[in-house]
Amino acid sequence: MVHFVGAGPGAFDLITVRGARLLSEADLIIYAGSLVNPELLKYAKAGCEIHDSAYLTLEEVLSLMKKAEKAGQNTVRLHTGDTSLYSAMREQIDELIKEGIPYDIVSGVSSFSAAAAALEAEYTLPEVTQTVIISRMAGRTPVPEKESMKNLSKIGSTMVIFLSSSLIPQLVSELLEGGAYSRVTPAAIVYKASWPEERVFRCTLDTLEKTAKENGIRKTALIIVGNFMDSLYERSKLYDPSFTTEFRKASHES
Ligand code: SAH
Repeated sequence: MVHFVGAGPGAFDLITVRGARLLSEADLIIYAGSLVNPELLKYAKAGCEIHDSAYLTLEEVLSLMKKAEKAGQNTVRLHTGDTSLYSAMREQIDELIKEGIPYDIVSGVSSFSAAAAALEAEYTLPEVTQTVIISRMAGRTPVPEKESMKNLSKIGSTMVIFLSSSLIPQLVSELLEGGAYSRVTPAAIVYKASWPEERVFRCTLDTLEKTAKENGIRKTALIIVGNFMDSLYERSKLYDPSFTTEFRKASHES
């Protein structure tokens, strides 16, 4: 059986309990070495076969999985963060289905969650925004035309931008073209969220490029944009004394 496991954002103890157990039981681990913290391999049992997929093609990954399956072994395919974002998991699953190899998926803590914790922030603030857009700039890998940053930025929601720290000048000009953000809109760079070397840089769209340059940010970073980092917001209805919920009656009318 093949278990696709979200490794979490980096910290050794931010993998799920289930993910850590599966790692400790695996006969074969194929991990995305360009991003997964190698410390996580300490969960592996003695004698476990371990491969870094940064050096492998899809065909080679699949051939390792097939060989393990034939030998009745357990495989963990360890992807960074959560498996649902930019993991290239789907193409592996489709091949496993063709081969009749059973698999399951164990979700992980995405780097976008770890970045919010690093910022000590809530992406969805009442009366500011209730929407988070996760996207990336087109680079060597294309993005569908209608999902250009210019289009996505028209809403003015919170934006969490993956895989784009080497494309900041173009990113900023597209974000401004959308019309909902301005040069003073708060922005942040979160580098290696939850790793020991985590760094958080708060800036604005105007100073984003300079901030990245001065701090040598080129990869393993998220760029985060939105007014949720400003100080203005409304308090929540959920905990408002004048608001009745399913569990609590309002103590007074507002
Ligand atoms: N599945 C992963 C994303 C993989 S794409 C997840 O859920 O987080 C790889 C990109 O994710 C990187 O280029 C970077 O933009 C971001 N990333 C991954 N780990 C990160 C971390 N610990 N801190 C900041 N960004 C990270």
